[in-house]
Amino acid sequence: MEHESVEHDSRNAARERAARRDRAVRGAVAQGLLGPDAAVVGLLDVTGIREATAALKAAFEAVAAPGTPVLHAFAVKATPLVPVLRLLDAEGIGAEVASPGELALARAAGVEPSRTVLDSPAKTPAELREALALGIAVNADNPQELDRLDGLVRAAPTRSPLGIRVNPQVGGGTIGATSTATQTSKFGVALRDEGAREWVVRAYLERPWLSRLHTHTGSQGVPLPLMARGVAEAYALAEEINARVGRRQIDTLDIGGGLPVNFASEATTPTYAQYARVLAEEVPGLFDGRYGLVTEFGRSLLAEQGTVVARVEYAKAAGGRRIAVTHAGVQVATRTVYAPGNWPLRIAAYDRTGRPKEGPLVVQDVAGPACFSGDMLAQARALPLLEQGDYAAALDTGAYYFAHHYAYNSLVRPGIYGFVPDGTAGVAFATVREPQRLTEVVEESGGAHASALTTLRTPGSG
Ligand SMILES: *Cc1c(COP(=O)(O)O)cnc(C)c1O
Repeated sequence: MEHESVEHDSRNAARERAARRDRAVRGAVAQGLLGPDAAVVGLLDVTGIREATAALKAAFEAVAAPGTPVLHAFAVKATPLVPVLRLLDAEGIGAEVASPGELALARAAGVEPSRTVLDSPAKTPAELREALALGIAVNADNPQELDRLDGLVRAAPTRSPLGIRVNPQVGGGTIGATSTATQTSKFGVALRDEGAREWVVRAYLERPWLSRLHTHTGSQGVPLPLMARGVAEAYALAEEINARVGRRQIDTLDIGGGLPVNFASEATTPTYAQYARVLAEEVPGLFDGRYGLVTEFGRSLLAEQGTVVARVEYAKAAGGRRIAVTHAGVQVATRTVYAPGNWPLRIAAYDRTGRPKEGPLVVQDVAGPACFSGDMLAQARALPLLEQGDYAAALDTGAYYFAHHYAYNSLVRPGIYGFVPDGTAGVAFATVREPQRLTEVVEESGGAHASALTTLRTPGSG
């Protein structure tokens, strides 16, 4: 019974999310955020973001011993937008950063250093120094980075919790480019390589200040049991290290992120609750209160909360195929365009007033605006026929899509707007990011250095 009602709730949640999205598209057209002069936008469902964060927190609270410290640190790379980071912070979610830019965004959003984790595989001495000065948690990726931490820890006291990232080498998922725990992954210390495990244990034995252990084994395409295996390996290593040291030196396990997202339908699967239960079954010691926990979910928190909506500029036919030429392509859906097999997106059709389009399904391509033939948002999709002035929406694009602009053809970054129901039948919008202006495109493309090359001469050549 309980199971049935949970399923019922999640079906309702999915239906409500779809209804909010439809209202947002209609509202964006009605309010002029979307139209002939704003041909592509990103929309963010603030209600959905709040629901996802609540689900994440509840999932871990349900399995962790009362009082277990849990920091959910949002992987900033998934949706690097300051207002999003501040909203998440207000909902109790910290930040996982992997570059100076991401750290700057987290700081601009007001995320406390004590709720921030730095994980990049290529941290410079300056980045490490700043992180330790601020008290941000750092996970060393490799022995050379640990050398640098040695020097910094010797030079000045720090409040930063410090750890090592390990790659348990449990294997990848169905998408190579996002699999982090393969035999030859570039991330962390490859635990099964000869001598590596003993090196890690000694590293902790020799450094009483190393108090964390980090692994990030999941990603899109990785099944839950494999994710749990990676976490189990890290847990077992922490137990081994603490036993060898003879005290609970490792007090916190950072289990990374990587929960896959269902791009094929409205349903949220797997859920955080399912993942937490798999972890509790496979790695029970993880939740018995002896370890604090850090998680680093990105895609699973934001993907379903975002929608790209683009105007159909032209509708045409070629070789018997209908093609809707829209303003959303490789610049906002880079992965999908370059690897459509791995990253298919659902497309929804709306009419020129922003209402869901009805009518018989027609197999058609949904093309982007870029000047190469592969710039396709979707191919051979059965949709109500998209006509000039209609809108095509690419669903589940709140992470790694419209926030990850790719400047092909100098296409401008679209505006991004957050929305909530306005209490009547409409929606209220807030600007998350202004659309990029053409003056900015010129500026960011060397506009201030227009004569740089025509005036550059080999000295002495006249
Ligand atoms: C990318 C990344 C994450 C987030 O991954 P998602 O698949 O977006 O959940 C978490 N931790 C680290 C170290 C990462 O590189």
